Amino acid sequence: MQKNSKPKIAIDGPAGAGKSSVARKVAGMLELKYLDTGAMYRAITLKVIMNNLQLDDLDLLNEVLNETEIDFGNNNQVFLDGKDVSDAIRQADVNKLVSPVSAISEVRKHLVAMQQDIASESNGIIMEGRDIASRVMPDADFKFYLDASIEERAKRRCKEQLEKGINLALDEVVREIKNRDNIDSQREDSPLTIVEDAIVIDTTGLSFEQVVDRVVGTVNNELQQG
Ligand code: C5P
Repeated sequence: MQKNSKPKIAIDGPAGAGKSSVARKVAGMLELKYLDTGAMYRAITLKVIMNNLQLDDLDLLNEVLNETEIDFGNNNQVFLDGKDVSDAIRQADVNKLVSPVSAISEVRKHLVAMQQDIASESNGIIMEGRDIASRVMPDADFKFYLDASIEERAKRRCKEQLEKGINLALDEVVREIKNRDNIDSQREDSPLTIVEDAIVIDTTGLSFEQVVDRVVGTVNNELQQG
């Protein structure tokens, strides 16, 4: 890491491992820009649904990608072509289609380029997703991989939704998460993997604060030594 520059931090892991909430908290504590790349794949998926696009019509998909704008608000709201879609991208129809859409190389190429531009324009960033350490920021200063058992991840997801007044059946959430994990880790283009130099944190049984402490502690330790 160059002197006076802030760290680039990659956080990868499967669905529901707590990446977003941890990354957001760490970004606030270390004063880093935060980028939720999953939200970008979700926004494209919403556009696919709204326009009734066929996933094998790659010419049309490319055209749509080129004219799609994705932006983030100051409170991490997600805007698709200027419209706030923060809630819409978390709905069941998007959950169901997001992994098949994300497996399409054209989609990945487009979004990875956007993510790399954002990283190069920022002094320090914490970016979370599935291929951040392996593809988007292989030069990241820190590469964390957050994991947890499937039961724990599904329970957290249910609790999170219940706080918003949405009651989900646990077995359905387990099924949905398993399905997404399978597609995300078996796809050909940039599958979810643990890179060799990743710091793996199994968050099963750890509190949110304990995970945040591990991440911030690791970064601060290294920065003080360097
Ligand atoms: O992180 P989140 O669960 O919101 O991501 C939604 C989906 O977006 C993932 O299941 C995956 O299919 C896709 N994704 C991806 N690469 C990323 C981030 C997310 O393929 N870097």
